[in-house]
Amino acid sequence: MSEPVQGTDPAQPAGEGSSSVEIDALCATARWCYARGWVPATSGNFSVRPFMNSSARVLVTPSGLDKGTLQPGDLIEIDGQGQVVAGTGKPSAETALHLVLYGARPQARAILHVHSVWNTLLSGHYAAGGFVPLEGYEILKGLSGVTTHAHLERVPVLENTQDYAVLAQKMQAALEENPTAHGVLLSRHGLYTWGQSVAEARRHLEALEFLFEIEGRRLLSRSAIEPDFLP
Ligand SMILES: [Zn+2]
Repeated sequence: MSEPVQGTDPAQPAGEGSSSVEIDALCATARWCYARGWVPATSGNFSVRPFMNSSARVLVTPSGLDKGTLQPGDLIEIDGQGQVVAGTGKPSAETALHLVLYGARPQARAILHVHSVWNTLLSGHYAAGGFVPLEGYEILKGLSGVTTHAHLERVPVLENTQDYAVLAQKMQAALEENPTAHGVLLSRHGLYTWGQSVAEARRHLEALEFLFEIEGRRLLSRSAIEPDFLP
């Protein structure tokens, strides 16, 4: 691990926490996701961009690692082209998507990608329409900049592929076409969300996953429950 990981960064703005605090927070968040069943069987990946004076560098989870055991020393440091700068192992296969996201969202400092049951189900259900609509729920206010339950959050859904160069292009286009989106789904695969800190990314993740579960349960139970409430 390179030197900046070990210490605090003097360029760090007050209130955002040090580099090491953000790295610890990312690892704790990954373990929390594992405990919630959102990154089973070594799936999912996480990254943080903690170096304020070297913002191109990113720490990302290695390929094939059990996220339930993630520690700071497991992270791999890469440059803006995805080349390994420090650490052992191979960066996640989806690293190209993280780099596209950091490029398109310059304020983002952390990216979380999980394969939950509900985001997998809903992304498949809404794939043909191109986005998952989330509207009318109080917890939408957990998304930065959203101040009312009446907000319509459109979460873009991209067709999944094992060609990560193609997927990165689709991610770039989706981010450009949806400048206010807080997340992007890959169909029957998982969710990408981000934030200006690990804490903000985690709040977005928790809010979106809650909404996916609500929406999924609503669709599943519609025939059994909703007719009683509908005209
Ligand atoms: Zn994935």
